Amino acid sequence: MDGLSDNELLRYARQIIIPAVGEEGQGKIKRAKVFIAGLGGLGSISSYYLAAAGIGSLKIADRDNVDVTNLNRQVIHWTQDIGSPKASSAEMKLRSLNPHVHIEAIQQEIREENIIDIVGDCSVIVDATDNMETRNALNVASVKMKIPFIYGGVNSFSGMVTTFIPGETPCFHCIFPYEAKKGETIGVIGPAPCVVAALQAMEALKIILGMKGLLTGRLLYFSGADMSFREIRIERNPDCKICSKY
Ligand SMILES: [Zn+2]
Repeated sequence: MDGLSDNELLRYARQIIIPAVGEEGQGKIKRAKVFIAGLGGLGSISSYYLAAAGIGSLKIADRDNVDVTNLNRQVIHWTQDIGSPKASSAEMKLRSLNPHVHIEAIQQEIREENIIDIVGDCSVIVDATDNMETRNALNVASVKMKIPFIYGGVNSFSGMVTTFIPGETPCFHCIFPYEAKKGETIGVIGPAPCVVAALQAMEALKIILGMKGLLTGRLLYFSGADMSFREIRIERNPDCKICSKY
């Protein structure tokens, strides 16, 4: 059923026995194409879990090379990868983790001019970037192409996640209507992006499986420093200059 080989049925056995997944759900996961923008602390984790879960096709993008200062949190890159492109470092690990997944690694900056070409055929966009400029570009593509967009952000011991569904929920710009600032270096403790990206991967799988209970209309904020989770209600801005046009 759904073209799953015996090998795949065995590999994914522990998720196929979950009633919300089953062989049918595993087939949906296999047919899905997910775009992960950024292969830093967030993308290391979301790409790993999505590849492990058997997403049929993963597009991963990062323009940078691995630097020694990345290694406290960007766990898909190892000491031997310092100086190599993050896109190829991640591609190599993901292929080795799960040869059933088709990986397309892109070493390119994501900009408004190329984003539609990159995400056009994807069913979910996972935000694993670290800057407003790229998030704004991803958001425009999400709204225009009606592709769900899972936002994640981290700072020191804390992080935030929410899921934007075009036409149903606010968009990124509704709640963060700021101009891009030139990047300042922020501190990040490794487990913070791990928590956020694991939640993003969970949301991506739920969207693909058609499950309810998504993190829509609410921003989940967690503080690792006092180990608390809080939800902030978020609403669509009727005058939003991005999503009010669509
Ligand atoms: Zn909006």
